[in-house]
Amino acid sequence: MTATVLNADTAVETVPSYVRDAWWTPEPSADLLTNSARVRDASTGELLAMVSTEGLDLAAVVEHGRSVGQRELGALTFHQRALKLKELAQYLNDRRAQLYEVSARSGATTGDSQVDIDGGIGVLFTFGSKGRRELPNSQVVVDGPVETLSKDGSFIGEHIYTRIPGVAVQINAFNFPVWGMLEKLAPAFLAGVPTIVKPATPTGYVAAAAVRLMVESQILPAGSLQLISGSARNLLDELDYRDLVAFTGSAATAKTLKAHPNVAIGGVRFTSETDSLNAAILGPDAVAGTPEFEAFIKSVVTEMTVKAGQKCTSIRRVLVPKELCTEVSEAIGARIAQRVVLGDPRAEGVTMGALASLEQLADVRSAVEIMLAAGGELAYGSLDAPAVTRADGTVAPAPGGAFMSPVLLRWANPEASELHALEAFGPVASVVGYSDLADAVRLAALGSGSLVASVCTNDPSVAQQLVSGIAAHHGRVLILNREDARSSTGHGSPVPHLVHGGPGRAGGGEELGGIRSVFHHMQRTAVQGSPNMLTAITGVWHTGADQHFDDVHPFRKPLSALRIGDAFKSGLRQVTLADITAFAESTGDTFYAHTNAEAAAANPFFPGIVAHGYLMLSWAAGLFVEPAPGPVLANYGLDNLRFLTPLAAGDSFRVTLTAKQITPRETDEYGEVRWDAVLHNQHDEVVASYDVLTLVAKDWAAS
Ligand code: NAP
Repeated sequence: MTATVLNADTAVETVPSYVRDAWWTPEPSADLLTNSARVRDASTGELLAMVSTEGLDLAAVVEHGRSVGQRELGALTFHQRALKLKELAQYLNDRRAQLYEVSARSGATTGDSQVDIDGGIGVLFTFGSKGRRELPNSQVVVDGPVETLSKDGSFIGEHIYTRIPGVAVQINAFNFPVWGMLEKLAPAFLAGVPTIVKPATPTGYVAAAAVRLMVESQILPAGSLQLISGSARNLLDELDYRDLVAFTGSAATAKTLKAHPNVAIGGVRFTSETDSLNAAILGPDAVAGTPEFEAFIKSVVTEMTVKAGQKCTSIRRVLVPKELCTEVSEAIGARIAQRVVLGDPRAEGVTMGALASLEQLADVRSAVEIMLAAGGELAYGSLDAPAVTRADGTVAPAPGGAFMSPVLLRWANPEASELHALEAFGPVASVVGYSDLADAVRLAALGSGSLVASVCTNDPSVAQQLVSGIAAHHGRVLILNREDARSSTGHGSPVPHLVHGGPGRAGGGEELGGIRSVFHHMQRTAVQGSPNMLTAITGVWHTGADQHFDDVHPFRKPLSALRIGDAFKSGLRQVTLADITAFAESTGDTFYAHTNAEAAAANPFFPGIVAHGYLMLSWAAGLFVEPAPGPVLANYGLDNLRFLTPLAAGDSFRVTLTAKQITPRETDEYGEVRWDAVLHNQHDEVVASYDVLTLVAKDWAAS
């Protein structure tokens, strides 16, 4: 990253882009001086950098992702990609302090940077781990059960996921330059889709600093990550149905992008996370003095002040029982006065920093002015320029800094449209009273679809009524009470395991939510064919496909020798009444179907006394086991167990075991093998079916 000195007045770096596996900055020119954006330190107003894409060949950037990025990521399995995410998380984690330093220039306190930077790294860790635990070590995912489409089972169908063949363009908002980038990169990367990230101009230099570390790490394959620093108004012109756009930002920009012909007509996949008037609802039981009241006040103040309220998930509408409006407003004000120290994040003791830019400050102030004109009353704070703690420790106004004191509004008219429609994207919240629970639900829904709501109550029936009323208007609902107040991750923090997004005004999109978000980058396709063909395509053995019975028991084969379809078939074993009785006595499972002939016969499912299902399973293990030490290291469970035909005294059964799926681990000397197990009786009817899960060594030398 080299500085491009443009002239003596603007001797600042241009934030570079990282495209086609190289750093790129615009050529110095008069046009560049005119067309570039300037970004400033949020606390001091000092000019930090220029930002421009003047002369950047966007078509070549997209083509690089589609060709080199697709090829390089396509050479890796899900597990190999997941491991790279983990390595990347570790690399960034060791260098967090460098990013905190850069992030402080955007007005972020250390706490804010932890949300952004550590939060982003946490997403990488989560997907690094989930990718290896929940996806196969291959490139195709089977979705759902097999459908039998012919009587003889020779024609079957199922759904598979394969990655989309284009690029994932990720357009981010200014407030979380690192988290916003990593929470979108992780699932795209895991799916095998190259990322082109376009951070918002005001804080893109923080994202660029993180990308610099990622490039330095040499962990990511060529073409898998490109960064566009600066405006990219024509980027969507280069996309088609193979590509995906994941947008985070304002509803107005989302509307423009959705209307782009390549999205509206051309089939570019488009998902958006936009602004949101999130509510927090205080239950009628949570009066002053209860732990819930305390947790509620704490949560509102946290959401107003973390990132100076510049969070899409911040609490904007504080819905409380009418009679508690004054008490709640006063308690919020008192906590702000007690806890919040506004100032330059680099100064000792500061708990809330500046907004990201003077433009942002002007936007938020103007939104508050509109709200005041519409009936909101100031319950705490003011729009006057606040005195702040400056970097040198002095307390005084900072004219170049984008500082704003937290502002709490109170509304006598709970119906005012500005209250439910205008997002002041800063440290601003509104208190409004509701008359009963149905009213609280109605008011929450006036947000026209939100990312998240909190319900604060210790009464399960209040929680049930509120949550069932508001859930469909929200992407996430947090229920806060005395039991989880300390352990909760909080109202404003999306977690990678659960979905982030919301209906309606919140954009209608869905991100995160674990492996779901990986599938957003993949195409679901119905595939139909014979069991042998679907086995070859998916790498998972299907009933009816070839089985290989050879002289070597499959339990004697390490992963290096075992093949899908390797199978073992036992002989028949007969069950006697004495066996069933002995099993009942030794286990204590004397359920009448195994012990009382008359009662068992009266049961609609049984002919009389039948064998315990678990007796059959235990015996099946005895029938297929290969007892000597060998490559099979452990049996760690069963999946999909079904008992289908009862076995009466005198009946016999046999077991067939077939290697169904082999998942070698990237970092261990063993892997998982899933075996298809089917028990048949002497009439060849299926008695039980299930998957046996084992750990098997990659190599094994018989001693
Ligand atoms: P914004 O003005 O809508 O910008 C968002 C992103 O879109 C920026 O990267 C911007 O680039 C880019 N952009 C704007 N017009 C574009 C176009 N025609 N073509 C391509 N890209 C374009 O929003 P913001 O001011 O950065 O962020 C604040 C808003 O985001 C708030 O309303 C907040 O609620 C919302 N937000 C939502 C979430 C969520 O998860 N739901 C999270 C964070 C923020 P430039 O900066 O280069 O113009």
